[in-house]
Amino acid sequence: MQTRVLVVGGGFAGVACARALAKDDAIQVTLIDRNDYHQFQPLLYQVATSMLAARDIAYPLRKIAAEYDDFVAKRGNVVAIDPVAHSATTDTGETYSGDYVVLAAGSQPNFFNTPGAEHAFPLYSLDDADRLRTRIIQAFEEADRDPRLADEGAIDFVVVGGGPTGVEVAGALSEMINTTMVHEFPALAPGAKVHLVDHGHALLGMFADKAHEYCARILAKDGVELLMGTGVTGIGPGHVTLSNGSTIKTRCVVWGGGLMAAPIASTSGLPQGRGGRIDVGPDFTVAGFPGVLVIGDIANIPAKDGKTHPQLGSVALQSGQWAAKAILADRQQKAAKPFSYLDKGTMAMIGRGAAVAQVKGVELHGKIAFGAWLGVHAALMTGGSNRVDAFKSWAVDFFGKDRAPQALDRSGTPRMQWDEDDAIGTAATAGGAR
Ligand SMILES: Cc1cc2nc3c(=O)[nH]c(=O)nc-3n(C[C@H](O)[C@H](O)[C@H](O)COP(=O)(O)OP(=O)(O)OC[C@H]3O[C@@H](n4cnc5c(N)ncnc54)[C@H](O)[C@@H]3O)c2cc1C
Repeated sequence: MQTRVLVVGGGFAGVACARALAKDDAIQVTLIDRNDYHQFQPLLYQVATSMLAARDIAYPLRKIAAEYDDFVAKRGNVVAIDPVAHSATTDTGETYSGDYVVLAAGSQPNFFNTPGAEHAFPLYSLDDADRLRTRIIQAFEEADRDPRLADEGAIDFVVVGGGPTGVEVAGALSEMINTTMVHEFPALAPGAKVHLVDHGHALLGMFADKAHEYCARILAKDGVELLMGTGVTGIGPGHVTLSNGSTIKTRCVVWGGGLMAAPIASTSGLPQGRGGRIDVGPDFTVAGFPGVLVIGDIANIPAKDGKTHPQLGSVALQSGQWAAKAILADRQQKAAKPFSYLDKGTMAMIGRGAAVAQVKGVELHGKIAFGAWLGVHAALMTGGSNRVDAFKSWAVDFFGKDRAPQALDRSGTPRMQWDEDDAIGTAATAGGAR
């Protein structure tokens, strides 16, 4: 008889686990995700800054499932997990169950209780990327309609966080302003500004000192204002307040300030540790809950140095593959091998031809790192057509001045409100900007 495995979440971890299991005739896999596609999160910022189209980084989950005989993909927003019955229930009332349940629901932004976080633009899904791109273009359009709005922060963009997400967004946004908006909005683009705020003192903290300096130099050269050693203490509809007491008027605050476990972790009844993530053993099982495995970003996965693995795509992917092996071992009543992560390198792209990569203890900067970044990301993408389209867009971006899919693609989005109840904005607009 086949063993039924239920996987919740179709990101790097869930898809890798489901694929590895579905290869085995003895296993029947059901994968549920709130979306009908697998998204490539590391490139969301490129969708947000019009470098790639959404379709370049999304791949249908049903198409992945169709590659196997006993793999079914279902669309559903899971609102409850029963770790004893090994079941998951969706917001439309369907319940799915298995002999094993694998939780792979990823992360969500952590705003650390920052007041006004609802005004920020996180970057964790295709919807987020689409919303951010619309806001950036809309902000330029608004300032084009009434240039006085530039004084109200219309073309000031604040990026919170100096980790890979913040650095990549700030780099791509300043590049978009310097190479594309300068042609589309020649009167406005020179006045547009990207501010990067971080309470730490180094960009890309996980890399070595040289990378921090390289990254700061590239961003500063591209015109990004670096506000290091500075925290964001509040966000309003038209401004951010900073820990140094100053204020920046802005209509676009991009949040790259931190992550925590996806909401389903807190209602699963499973033990939560740091970041709200579920504490697992080296075989991804949870003490006291046989048949439950938790993988990827939503898990605190123990590492050999006594710490836990970082929330990275490669960790998620490998955890999925190892969890599949653990399940196959368990159904044969064998012990699973503890997870051993193979670090193939950590990379971040700062701008055109500029990247940092840390590969097996060696740190690369500049064009070599950019080449490594291109190769690794293209190889990781699911689906050949996505890869080809992404490469075409990267080529257009690298050699040309335009970004292919640039358009206001959410025409139903309401116009920006300039008379919202914002202390800074209201006081300033009283001067006549509308
Ligand atoms: C902007 C950004 C840039 C990044 N850049 C890099 C990088 O350069 N390199 C790198 O290695 N890593 C990078 N990461 C981290 C990497 O993307 C994550 O570590 C990885 O995606 C985690 O994979 P996962 O499968 O655990 O979770 P996810 O990829 O988050 O997948 C979780 C899935 O679960 C689904 N889901 C969640 N809750 C529910 C629910 N209740 N019901 C149904 N479905 C649900 C989601 O829709 C999603 O498909 C980046 C992350 C972000 C956000």
